[in-house]
Amino acid sequence: MLKAERYRHFLEYFQKNQPGAETELHYGNPYELLVAVILSAQCTDKRINMITPKLFERFPTPEALAASDADEIFTYIRSVSYPNNKAKHLAGMGKMLVEKFGSEVPSGIEELQQLPGVGRKTANVIASVVFEAPAIAVDTHVFRVANRLGLVKASTPLAVEKQLVKNLPENTLAIAHHWLILHGRYICVARSPKCDICPLTWFCKYYEQHNTESALLKAEALKQKKAKEAKKKKALNAISKELKKRSVDKQDNN
Ligand code: SF4
Repeated sequence: MLKAERYRHFLEYFQKNQPGAETELHYGNPYELLVAVILSAQCTDKRINMITPKLFERFPTPEALAASDADEIFTYIRSVSYPNNKAKHLAGMGKMLVEKFGSEVPSGIEELQQLPGVGRKTANVIASVVFEAPAIAVDTHVFRVANRLGLVKASTPLAVEKQLVKNLPENTLAIAHHWLILHGRYICVARSPKCDICPLTWFCKYYEQHNTESALLKAEALKQKKAKEAKKKKALNAISKELKKRSVDKQDNN
């Protein structure tokens, strides 16, 4: 199947079935989204949503965050991954927002990346979700699913981003980010993708490659080989156990 066809099927499926896909992080304004996205690195959205209500209550504005320090912020975020670093990042981010950007979240990707704790991925999320910029953030799910589906063939997040930007219509980039994340989070999971319940099998490159006749025969042969080895191991264990038992019996009789 041609790559252009995969993109067409991808867009058709998700536009029809998930036209309102959005981030699972809870937030009320750009500042809160920025804080939540910084916190969500290497952590689940569910965990972040558990701690942000109290955090936002204590630090409702960049000024409030800027007036605090990492030690206090830490006490609100101790249950997320890497709390020490993230507390330092949030403290620095609050100060820079106030001092350099007039307490407003900047819209440019380069400006966003100047903020502590904000890398390219976070900057792209903010730029696309808040400012509708033609950008797509590539996290581990986007990276994996885009490669498996055959939308891209790339070994770095930046290369994935460039290929997606090149091939997807500009006005679908922001939502495509959520489609790929959600699909990766719930169906096309990292270790064992749930292809048996996936609605995208018919245009997925990974599925195509792993379900040809020869791939299935190879998988079956491997399964049989493993079963044979397990049987052999079990028989050897039984023999060894029996020999040990006989040796103990013999010693007892002597
Ligand atoms: S068919 Fe399998 S590999 Fe392809 S997108 Fe679906 S779950 Fe992922």
